[in-house]
Amino acid sequence: MATQDDVFKKIVSHAKEYGFVFPSSDIYDGLSAVYDYGQNGVELKNNIKRYWWDAMTLLNENIVGIDSAIFMHPTIWKASGHVDAFNDPLIDNRDSKKRYRADVLIEDHIAKYDDKIEKEVTKGRKRFKESFDESQFRATNPRILEIAARRDALHTRFSEAMNAANLDELRQIIIDEEIVCPVSGTKNWTEVRQFNLMFKTEMGSTADGAMAVYLRPETAQGIFVNYLNVQKTGRMRIPFGIAQIGKAFRNEIVARQFIFRMREFEQMEMQFFVRPGSELEWFGKWKETRMRWHKALGLGDEKYRYHDHEKLAHYANAATDIEFRMPFGFKEVEGIHSRTDFDLSQHEKFSGKNIKYFDPELNESYVPYVIETSIGVDRMFLTVLCSSYEEQSLEGGDTRVVLHLPAPLAPVKCAVMPLVRKDGLPDKAREIVNDLKFDFATHYDEKDSIGKRYRRQDAIGTPFCITVDHQTLEDNTVTLRHRDSMEQQRVNIADLHRLIHDNVSINSLLRKLV
Ligand code: ATP
Repeated sequence: MATQDDVFKKIVSHAKEYGFVFPSSDIYDGLSAVYDYGQNGVELKNNIKRYWWDAMTLLNENIVGIDSAIFMHPTIWKASGHVDAFNDPLIDNRDSKKRYRADVLIEDHIAKYDDKIEKEVTKGRKRFKESFDESQFRATNPRILEIAARRDALHTRFSEAMNAANLDELRQIIIDEEIVCPVSGTKNWTEVRQFNLMFKTEMGSTADGAMAVYLRPETAQGIFVNYLNVQKTGRMRIPFGIAQIGKAFRNEIVARQFIFRMREFEQMEMQFFVRPGSELEWFGKWKETRMRWHKALGLGDEKYRYHDHEKLAHYANAATDIEFRMPFGFKEVEGIHSRTDFDLSQHEKFSGKNIKYFDPELNESYVPYVIETSIGVDRMFLTVLCSSYEEQSLEGGDTRVVLHLPAPLAPVKCAVMPLVRKDGLPDKAREIVNDLKFDFATHYDEKDSIGKRYRRQDAIGTPFCITVDHQTLEDNTVTLRHRDSMEQQRVNIADLHRLIHDNVSINSLLRKLV
């Protein structure tokens, strides 16, 4: 049996081999945690973005989009708190010379306590068989209670240290819990230091006194500083939202797991402005709406879960993550945060501009509260790729690698193939391509055996293959092959457009959301 680790490695190499994701600067041996999207990757990525954008801006008449610049006035990052507090605590192991995030080392250690509890439950289940009462066992088994108490004490100590940004205490936790470096296996740790994740550069020539600017670490601030522009010019009434898709940059300390944690990545963020006091109701609504968006893709409902934050940022009054089961465990794909009036109030303070909203129904002015939904395009891409990849054994001992991509996200929607390269079949196939290409990403392929051509399309997740044979010339029918079932259907050329459209349009996904 292949381990999850092996499967993940295969997915990464498949992504490269089939033009989805390449390491950046590949011929120079790559640049750590930076990736390029290839000819198929960019299409899949664009489709993900379109699905998100349309779900936000078409389905909600009170949500509009913007596209703000990556460079922004540096005071914005002072106001938002990023200059002072967008830090990760880092620690080095002196023997392996490896660098870690101290908080991640401790979180992983806490997860081990949870694993131990689950092992005890499994043992109990085996021992008591039918009479096993899991909730009672969890509540009374002395070994479980002991582990849970240690876990909870550690969790509290860790939360307090993080909230107080107490670096010495974080180090002491690592020492007391005897956490070792996964590479060297030793406890030879340095001090814990704060590391700001923002990339800094200079704008203007040094002779004029260049200004230090940052590459934005999130797209959200571009929305906040445009809130007033959009509200006024769009005559928006609260509640309303502003959506944006764009690049963000973070100098991540530990960047691994492929495109899960990158230094340059893309976010899809929506800030929803509401009346103070109504924010928790809206938070609940957005939590549900976003989960529905994920599940409509059909990657498997059991692969998602919410992770409510116990430790909230000082400005938030509710926060949850939507986590997805990656081959390396449940991981955050999207965050939904109730950010109160923190950001807008800070910008009011730092800019000196009045950005209050006059609510005609209440006849009063206030700074709106904000619900944010924030999802990483690249992480979303990874969830789609990981859950679509399958190595299938076929009848007769054959195997194939297939990407069961949701059809509306697939980079290529259909491939048209003449059975042989003669007898006018290529011309007929080209005719079909020339008709379909206006509406669907369509490939023409005449090289190699038909079986090989099918495999190539399976490997990039093309939902339909259309084969033109001699019968086509007589009766205008073709073989339509379905990627997942490999079922082949004889259909009329005139019906192709409708059959394909019904399956591959982003519309078909959007309709599941309302
Ligand atoms: P993490 O805890 O994994 O570092 P975060 O809580 O800092 O993530 P947010 O600041 O809430 O993440 O960002 C919103 C979304 O942006 C995340 O849910 C994720 O999908 C994406 N994201 C954040 N950092 C990265 C990164 N380095 N690479 C790729 N995507 C990222």
